[in-house]
Amino acid sequence: MKKPLLKVDFHTHTTYSDGRLTPERLISRAKNLGVGTLAVTDHDTTAGLKEARIFAEQSGIHLVDGIEISCRQGDTSVHLLVYGSKVFNERLLQFVQNFREKKLGRVERILEKLHVLGFPISLEELDAVDYENLGRPHIGRAMVRKGYVQSLSEAFAKYLSPGRLAYVPREEADTQEAVRLLGEIGAVCAVAHPGQIRMEQGELFKNIKHWQSLGLCGIECYHPCHEDRLAEFYANYAKENNLLVLGGSDFHEIGASDSKHGELGDQSGRWKNLEEDVQQLLTRIG
Ligand code: AMP
Ligand code: ZN
Ligand code: FE
Ligand code: FE
Repeated sequence: MKKPLLKVDFHTHTTYSDGRLTPERLISRAKNLGVGTLAVTDHDTTAGLKEARIFAEQSGIHLVDGIEISCRQGDTSVHLLVYGSKVFNERLLQFVQNFREKKLGRVERILEKLHVLGFPISLEELDAVDYENLGRPHIGRAMVRKGYVQSLSEAFAKYLSPGRLAYVPREEADTQEAVRLLGEIGAVCAVAHPGQIRMEQGELFKNIKHWQSLGLCGIECYHPCHEDRLAEFYANYAKENNLLVLGGSDFHEIGASDSKHGELGDQSGRWKNLEEDVQQLLTRIG
């Protein structure tokens, strides 16, 4: 009898960016949920990977090194997922460091706005491992802890999202520049949650084609923000265009799945050609 394939997850966050679990707790949760292959893809940092590797080895989980790079294209964000040993490439680390340095100043400006709105929060009250890698989720969670809002979703919906009173945009890497660099260093990289890219579909695919010519090699098709039909649509497009099919939960915290973030391994259930796609992906990552 064929052994059932363990669950996989190619998109997760830890306390080294804006996830709630330390690498140790993330791995332990993955183990309990039956995830066999896990990529840790913190925003703009590889700092959690060393710790993750130690615990993954102890738990018998296959850990894939990863990083999620925040980029910009016009007035929308584009996130790139990168996998394998190339995430430690010096040029890439220098590239993300430049943008990480700007995160703290932006968070301080958001806190100033919240202060004016009557919701004081000090920097020390943010639950952070790395003060250079703070983002809106840290602020939203502090707002919940201080009783200013009931939930993280409420914090985003009322104050932290674009157009809301405490929103401050963030300087992000230019997408084309990032993809070109990734192509030059030969990294395995994919466009994350394309469903969240605010672009008309024809334009999105035109961009994907262009990024592919620079080095993009995959699409994150299975993500909590993609309905089944959309996920299949992306998967078919990827196959037809010689791109890798990826999937991940974008897990950030325990018990807080929403339309953008899921539970570890949760995309495996609906991933049509899971075995074949994962095999191709792992072969490519090396
Ligand atoms: P930032 O880096 O500060 O721009 O924040 C981006 C992070 O906020 C990403 O991890 C997103 O997944 C998360 N995020 C964006 N919108 C929401 C939302 N409505 N609820 C919870 N998290 C969100
Ligand atoms: Zn995040
Ligand atoms: Fe993302
Ligand atoms: Fe993410």
